[in-house]
Amino acid sequence: MNKHFELVIDGKGEAGAEACFDVINPATAEVVAQCPCGSTEQLDQAVAAAKQAFVSWRRSSDAERRALLHRIADDIESRCDELARLIVEEQGKPLALAESEVMGGVAWTRYNAELDIPVEVVEETSDKRIELHRKPLGVVASITPWNWPFMIAVWHIMPALRTGNTVVSKPSEFTPLSTLRLVEIINLHVPPGVINIVTGAAAIGAAITEHSFINKIIFTGSTQTGQHIMRGAAGNLKRLTLELGGNDAGIVLPDTHPAQVCEDIFQAAFLNMGQTCAALKRLYVHESQYQDFCERLTRIAEQQVVGNGLDEGVNFGPIQNARQFDKVAKLVEDAKQQGATVLCGGEAIKGAGYFYPPTIVANITDGTALVDEEQFGPVLPIIAYRDVNDAVARANASDSGLGGSVWSSDSDAAKEIASQLESGVSWVNCHAQIQPNTPFGGCKMSGFGVEFGLEGLLEYTSHHLLYVNK
Ligand code: NAD
Repeated sequence: MNKHFELVIDGKGEAGAEACFDVINPATAEVVAQCPCGSTEQLDQAVAAAKQAFVSWRRSSDAERRALLHRIADDIESRCDELARLIVEEQGKPLALAESEVMGGVAWTRYNAELDIPVEVVEETSDKRIELHRKPLGVVASITPWNWPFMIAVWHIMPALRTGNTVVSKPSEFTPLSTLRLVEIINLHVPPGVINIVTGAAAIGAAITEHSFINKIIFTGSTQTGQHIMRGAAGNLKRLTLELGGNDAGIVLPDTHPAQVCEDIFQAAFLNMGQTCAALKRLYVHESQYQDFCERLTRIAEQQVVGNGLDEGVNFGPIQNARQFDKVAKLVEDAKQQGATVLCGGEAIKGAGYFYPPTIVANITDGTALVDEEQFGPVLPIIAYRDVNDAVARANASDSGLGGSVWSSDSDAAKEIASQLESGVSWVNCHAQIQPNTPFGGCKMSGFGVEFGLEGLLEYTSHHLLYVNK
């Protein structure tokens, strides 16, 4: 595989002006590749190129942009194998999951291609006509995290291009490689300057936030960084979509059949080794079934095959980076000290790489950091409750409000309870189900704005009302 990577500014590949940095394979702790690092001057050049390209890109026809997105989707699909391997090497997830990440990117790209940008006739009478149009915003910056690096970049970039904006992408410094390839691929199809990429860490992110020629930031990452961005974006009133951290609760009602739901609950909690914004992060189970759920989930956890995502048979990879690995290990140690019981896992796996086994923690409750904070890793605390109203109150007693779920054999009763959750999404008998046509986003400290669906697409536009007196 070609391991040479460059920034893309105004359609041209460029070395970074700053010293390259290493991208580490979390399964081996070895260097995957050297990543170029952009300077703030290069960011200025990328933004200037995007601003210039916007002049004509905004005037490209709807049909043209649709066709382009389909061609890009074809191109990504034809390189699925290469991209998926790169994702495994930089991110750590098992190959099958990386392939679904790439193919998810293809599906999202095609969905955006097919969406219509509406022109709404608000009023039509004999003497006047009022139309609501949607116009692109200008230069959109995308700042992405390290958990689903390729798919989240697609989520940000495709609706921006579809609506006639130009883009500057800044991927996570932990996982920049698949996004660099993605931007290279898109550049084969769009005019120079329509999409640019400048890699780097927080300093480039902060410079994006304050840049006066950037009109919108779409950001996915931690709440703390989201707060920095919101503060910094005030200078030119940038539009913001902030997809931030979550601490999703799942509530299991007492009538639930454990055998029917435990596998789904496990997958929802440990998707991508738990490094998923909308993973199920704390599970509330009625005391009458507590023991049963703990045992079943532990059995499933013990069946996972942990290892290098490129190895045959592995279905559970490492934690993506050393910082996150330490955070997860500390949360588990703290829970142990508070008297919680580790039913399986709970100790880092020795050797190279950041391997931490799927870990189930019982006899734990709210007030423990592992329950109250987002672990963003392969650990699930299971909390017993007696009264369902109390479980709902505890689920809602969080600053986060991304997702939540209720599990029951009576989906109507569960829906009633799910509607009481303070979250952007509530699921019944499932969790972390995200698809291109359903708006997704959080409330409270999990951010604001949505991605996906028509609502998500329209966040890349501003209103333009045309009021015509005939
Ligand atoms: P992070 O906030 O540390 O980093 C995200 C990105 O922001 C990176 O590209 C980073 O370089 C950049 N950045 C860092 N400091 C910055 C600054 N001051 N200004 C501008 N940009 C800056 O997050 P992370 O550790 O990469 O990702 C994990 C977090 O992301 C978790 O909290 C997770 O829940 C959240 N997340 C949320 C969603 C969602 O859709 N809500 C999806 C995935 C991840």
